[in-house]
Amino acid sequence: MKYKTDVVIIGAGPVGLFAIFELGLLNLKCHLIDNLDKVGGQCAELYPEKPIFDIPSRVSITAQDLTDNLLKQANTFNPVFHLNQQTEIVEKTEDKNWKITTSVGNIIIAKCIVIAAGAGSFVPRKPSIENIDYYENKSVFYAIKDTSLMKGKKILIAGGGDSALDWTINLANIADVTLLHRRKEFRAAPDSVSKMLDLEKQNKIKFIVGQLSSIKGKNGKISMIEYKHENQVFTITTDYLLPFYGLKMELGPIANWGLNLNKNLIYVDTEKFETSISSIFAIGDINSYPGKLKLILSGFHEAALMAQQCFRYCNPDEKLVFRYTTTSKDLRKKLGI
Ligand SMILES: Cc1cc2nc3c(=O)[nH]c(=O)nc-3n(C[C@H](O)[C@H](O)[C@H](O)COP(=O)(O)OP(=O)(O)OC[C@H]3O[C@@H](n4cnc5c(N)ncnc54)[C@H](O)[C@@H]3O)c2cc1C
Repeated sequence: MKYKTDVVIIGAGPVGLFAIFELGLLNLKCHLIDNLDKVGGQCAELYPEKPIFDIPSRVSITAQDLTDNLLKQANTFNPVFHLNQQTEIVEKTEDKNWKITTSVGNIIIAKCIVIAAGAGSFVPRKPSIENIDYYENKSVFYAIKDTSLMKGKKILIAGGGDSALDWTINLANIADVTLLHRRKEFRAAPDSVSKMLDLEKQNKIKFIVGQLSSIKGKNGKISMIEYKHENQVFTITTDYLLPFYGLKMELGPIANWGLNLNKNLIYVDTEKFETSISSIFAIGDINSYPGKLKLILSGFHEAALMAQQCFRYCNPDEKLVFRYTTTSKDLRKKLGI
């Protein structure tokens, strides 16, 4: 699909979400791209239940509630979300716009790009098995989008954290599930561990101790999996392998766009939060400048200043007038008040 907008925001974490609001107040429309299947970045993915105590005016708010509120506030301006996809290619068009291509082939034309990519994309940790990429998305999956594919199949789930146990429990009713973990202790919530052990007792799932070592198969289809335990090699047949070894962060293709980088962070000025490439901005955890604090509130401030400069790029002939939401009739109308 091809789209056109004012600003593309890469990353729908708390800072990317607040940027929609700040840009919206200045009449700028946004599309957001995020690698995850949900908005909220670190807040939603890493610590949704934890209370945060340093969001101005909120004595305490859970990270998920903060995400939900930011989304509600942003939705006033009808942002378009492109989830489950990474920003792959960024090119300048002849008419000096940006052409952004995502990993699923969506193309968005925009006047400005705002990188709010936090510590980078969350990507799955993969088992160190040679040729595993040959089976990926055919018979090896790191996330499940459609459980109907698993119905009546033999499934091998590898891992000992929350995702591994949650999916073992969820799929037990519809598939022949085996859980493989390197030891008998688990990192998952105690309630999930006891549910899984109950299912094992009732012979509704199998649990084996061991570590994946190789995959055999043809044309991306697994015929057999080998795993090791106490220096011995065992085999198991399965239709699908679901390794759930957690997530890690990677900067991904952004690292190759020619931006001025400081390790995995992007240098910006502190007036506009613009990068070394004009009309590309970086806000939130991804940026670097003297005195930077990786706090959500710093990202909110950066979003407000970035939006002013985006306005100038998008409306070169218009004067930017500074207004308060409390007193500006025009802003209140935009907010539907
Ligand atoms: C356990 C924990 C507790 C914390 N507690 C606090 C606290 O009390 N107070 C506080 O202020 N801060 C706290 N933080 C830090 C805070 O969560 C971060 O400062 C904040 O999440 C940064 O927001 P962000 O939007 O910049 O980035 P993130 O939240 O990291 O979001 C970035 C998003 O960009 C996406 N992305 C990255 N690259 C790409 C790409 N190429 N294509 C598509 N999508 C991409 C990622 O998938 C992610 O969703 C805490 C962090 C942790 C881990």
